[in-house]
Amino acid sequence: MKQYLGYMLSGGLLITLVALAAIGVFHSDRLQSFTSRPVGIMGTDTALTVVVRAGETNIARSAMEAAENTLRETEARGSWRLGDSEISHLNAAPAAKVVPLSVETLAMLRLARDAADATGGAFDVTCRPLIELWKTSAQEGHPPTPQQRAAARVTSSWDQIILGPAGAEKTTDTACMDLGGIAKGFAADRAAEAMMQLGVSGGLIEIGGDIRCFGRHSGRQEGWRIGIRNPFDPNSPAMLATLKLAQGGICTSGNYFRFVEIQGRRYSHIIDPRPGDNCGATADAAPSVTVVAPDAATADIWATALSVLGPAGLKRLPAGVEAMIVTGGPTDHQQHSSEGFGKLLADENEGM
Ligand code: AMP
Ligand code: MG
Repeated sequence: MKQYLGYMLSGGLLITLVALAAIGVFHSDRLQSFTSRPVGIMGTDTALTVVVRAGETNIARSAMEAAENTLRETEARGSWRLGDSEISHLNAAPAAKVVPLSVETLAMLRLARDAADATGGAFDVTCRPLIELWKTSAQEGHPPTPQQRAAARVTSSWDQIILGPAGAEKTTDTACMDLGGIAKGFAADRAAEAMMQLGVSGGLIEIGGDIRCFGRHSGRQEGWRIGIRNPFDPNSPAMLATLKLAQGGICTSGNYFRFVEIQGRRYSHIIDPRPGDNCGATADAAPSVTVVAPDAATADIWATALSVLGPAGLKRLPAGVEAMIVTGGPTDHQQHSSEGFGKLLADENEGM
C-alpha cells in the first residue's frame, strides 16, 4: 500500500553522506573513522568509510585497500565497457560457446535473472540492444520508433542465455547484457564483506550515490545518516529527506544527472524492457526513486525497477524492502512511499 508523505520536496537524485567528515579522520570515544575517495571506479565518485577502535590504523588501512580492490575487481569482470571483462566476452561470444565466468560474476547474473522474474520483467539486464539503440538514435538526432524498439528487444532476452555451474552460453549470437543497474550495489556489498572480514567495527561504501553500510559509526548518535537530494535541485544542501539506517543498502535511481537529450528533450537512461506498446521507451515518470534493503544489490535492482514500474510497483516490493518514489516535475511533484518507509526517516531534531 502506498502512502503519501506530506512534506514537500526540498532536496534529489543522489544520496549524500550527511554525518561523516569529508576526508581524513573523525574521532569519537574509542572509535576512529577514516574516509577515502578512490577515483576511476565505475565512472563515478566513490567514498569508503571505515570505523575501527582507536589505534587500529593498520586494520583501517587494510580494510580500505581490500574494499577498493574488490570494487575494481567487480568492475573489471562485469563491465561491458571494458573489452576484456567476462561480460564483454559473453556479449561477444557466438551462440553455443560456453564462456567461463567467475563465481562472483555468475552470482551477479543469477541475482539479475531472479530479479527479472521478481519485477515482472521491469528489471532486465538483457535489454542492452535497446540501450545501444537509444545511443545511436541520440547521435542521429531523433528518438527510435516503436518498430525499431521492438526489433531491438527480440535480439536479446533471458530465454537466449543459459547459466551453467561455471559459465554461460547463449542460444543466439545477439543476446547481450548491461549490468549497470545492479553492479554498483553488488560491488558495494562485496566491498562491505571484505571490510568485515578484516574485523572493522563498521563501514560505509558509496559508489555514485549507491550505498551499503554496516556496524558502528563514530558519531554520537545511533545509526548512519543518509540524506536524499532533491531531483529538481540536486546541488541544494537542503535534503528531500534524511534516513537513519543501522545497516543495509540504500540506492537511488534518477533521470536528473543521467539522461540522453534529443531535440532539446531529456530521456531517462532507464528503459522499459517489457513487451507491449511501451517496450523500449524510456522510464521518464519518476525523476527519483530511493530504495532501502538489507543489501545494496537488492536496493540497486529495485531502484531501477521502480523507475520503470512507478508507484504501482510498490506493492511488488519484497518483505524488508522499502522505497520512496518522486513523480511529476518541479512544480507538480509528489512522493509515494511504501508502508514502512516513514519509520526510516531520521528525527530532524536529533543531533548528528
Ligand atoms: P541505475 O542507475 O542503477 O538505475 O541503473 C541504470 C543503468 O542500468 C542504465 O544506465 C543501463 O545501463 C541499465 N538499465 C537501463 N534500464 C534497465 C532496466 N530496465 N533493467 C536493467 N538495467 C537497466
Ligand atoms: Mg539500479
